[in-house]
Amino acid sequence: MEQGPPPPPPAEPAIGHRTSRSARATRARRALPATGAAAALLLLGSLTASCSDGDGGGNTARERRVCLTGKLTYTHRDAEAGPELPKATSVARNANWELWGRPQGERRVRELNAGLTDAGNGGFRACAKQPDQVTDVYVKFRSSSTDLWRVINPKSRAQYTFDTRHTARADSTVALGTVRVPADRASAWKIVDSLNELYWKASEANTSGSACWTRRQKNGHCDELTVTWGPKATDGGYFDQGGTNHIVLTAEDADSRHTVLHEAGHWLQWQLYGRSLPDSPHCEEHTFELASSPGCAWTEAFADAAAAYALGDRRYVYGNGESVELRADSATDWDQGDDVQGRVGGALLDLWAADGPDGGDWNRTIDLMSREVSEDFYDYFTEDRPRAGLDTTGPALDIVHDHTIDY
Ligand SMILES: [Zn+2]
Repeated sequence: MEQGPPPPPPAEPAIGHRTSRSARATRARRALPATGAAAALLLLGSLTASCSDGDGGGNTARERRVCLTGKLTYTHRDAEAGPELPKATSVARNANWELWGRPQGERRVRELNAGLTDAGNGGFRACAKQPDQVTDVYVKFRSSSTDLWRVINPKSRAQYTFDTRHTARADSTVALGTVRVPADRASAWKIVDSLNELYWKASEANTSGSACWTRRQKNGHCDELTVTWGPKATDGGYFDQGGTNHIVLTAEDADSRHTVLHEAGHWLQWQLYGRSLPDSPHCEEHTFELASSPGCAWTEAFADAAAAYALGDRRYVYGNGESVELRADSATDWDQGDDVQGRVGGALLDLWAADGPDGGDWNRTIDLMSREVSEDFYDYFTEDRPRAGLDTTGPALDIVHDHTIDY
């Protein structure tokens, strides 16, 4: 399991509704951890009021509620647990489901309802109101979360899907128990599940009330994060900026949540900056310990720090389970200065730390990033932080110095 995930949100019924795109996005905000729940409840109120139960809308006395319930899990190689890559089973949170079946009197199976697995325990309760029994009922899962993020096959460009066993006939609730993602595509759901951690942190910092990844877009007009992953993919480990703008992952990249969220961190910075990133020369073979360029160190360090911050530690973990610690230790035998990725990443984590000078989180940094582009860490620290009211003296400056950056 990952280190220190955010606290699970309050238990909520995972009853899904086919609603408008914006309402579906709004529902994703219900998935905020407890700290963001108050804001989310305001949005939830209007949604609940306008939402019919099931897709019918007609409220005849003979309607029945047909439900399939269960919990979605995936089994994966857990790089966060070390180079042995032990197998672990996790719940798939906020994953899209669809309820399919053939209502009595109809000739074909069709989609009856849609929703998300529970943001805390991966549970689902897929229900539809129907005049009578439904035959051939099943749940179809998709490797996506609302319209905010999705995982696609690099060849077919389609999302991964699978269906639960089909129930021949249902006129009430059928408990499916634990539903396991098929092994050949489990990593797609691991990526979907892991992206929650970054989305929740980005959402907490988004003061606009939009359910999108950043304040730059309004509900109903969110940019969707797309990850390509395949069980045999050998090309990957990058954000294809300027091409597909997709995150491209190899088969093994998905073993590490840090690797998934590092690449998503590049996409997030690109979104915050209005679909652009600063110049980052000499970045082809960047490492934590060697000097590259200020732009390269800034963009790579942001991605490193975003992943560690979202997962609640100070590490970068490779797909093979090896890891690097982003320490505040000026004696570390690394190159020095603000063109060294590991130095900048460690400084960012210290600024955002629970006992740090920025109030215990990254929220004001994310907010300032959504308003102006910092070309490198120097620009961020000396120009953009003061404009945003963030400290650049005292403990904040001490942190920078601890990381061998001489401002
Ligand atoms: Zn990177």
